[in-house]
Amino acid sequence: MKIGIPRTLTYYAYLPLWKAFFEALGCEVVVSDKTSKGILDKGVEYAVNDACIPIKLFHGHVYNLKERADFILVPRLLNLTGEKAVTYCPKFLGLADMVRASMPGLPPLLDFRIDLREKRKERLREYQRIAALLGVSTSRVDRAFRRALSKMSRYRRDLLGKERAEEVLGMLTEDTRAVNLPPQPLTLAVVGYPYLLYDSFVNTGLVSKLHKMGVRILTPEMVPERALERKAKRLPKNLFWTFSNQVVRGAIYYIDDGGVDGIIHVTAFGCGPDAMVGKLIELEAKQKAVPNICISLDEHTGEAGVLTRLEAFVDILKYRRDKQ
Ligand code: SF4
Repeated sequence: MKIGIPRTLTYYAYLPLWKAFFEALGCEVVVSDKTSKGILDKGVEYAVNDACIPIKLFHGHVYNLKERADFILVPRLLNLTGEKAVTYCPKFLGLADMVRASMPGLPPLLDFRIDLREKRKERLREYQRIAALLGVSTSRVDRAFRRALSKMSRYRRDLLGKERAEEVLGMLTEDTRAVNLPPQPLTLAVVGYPYLLYDSFVNTGLVSKLHKMGVRILTPEMVPERALERKAKRLPKNLFWTFSNQVVRGAIYYIDDGGVDGIIHVTAFGCGPDAMVGKLIELEAKQKAVPNICISLDEHTGEAGVLTRLEAFVDILKYRRDKQ
């Protein structure tokens, strides 16, 4: 049985979890193609107009899997951290309904609910539903999910050993080519949701552009979980969304640490949670006099526009550093 996984949104954070889970159930995992103009066009065609670009892209990736998978994974991801009052962006939660309503002729969607705050009894009920859909026993689903969670925590530990965003990118995208980079004079924290930072089509190759300009890049995925949790205590209140908390805490970690020359916040045009995330980063950076910019992405974002802004920012930082 083939399970299709769209190469966006949770793919960039949880692929090892999904893969281990389905493989433990004896299924084959098929991932959609890398994001391309064709995938984006399909996403724009099927998604609602005012959706952010990651949601549009998700539709395009689902379309890409339409003829290649027996089921497509569109989970209702509520909580994977156990943190109270924290969930994922509301658009993640309603994604299965959105996709189903806008795209006819799809294979069945695996829209199971994952909430690690729930009691075991409630979780088992959801496993029974998955088991019935996939034709396996409930106990096998339970075992597979526990194995997948432990695989995910091992993967997260491996990710922390990486010193360069390019290596993280390699792990997140399963591109294992070795990355040998010369020492770089500027260090920037590039913060944003993993599906924006690590999809080089949607961000117009931001990571490699910065690299060519002689910039070492650090991302929130490279900060140990405990350090992120410590930074959370610096804020009067948590945000409600897992990925947003990771971005804010990651940015604060790099701002406090003092090891970066500047911060780039990569956001999606029209992103509700980022209205708060962006402001918090801006205020924290201002307090510590760390230069920062925000790059906003949508389906009309042009490569030249992003390049001009990055070049201007990097030039100013180099000038500033040379003057010190
Ligand atoms: S967090 Fe923002 S960018 Fe991500 S899916 Fe939600 S609205 Fe879109």
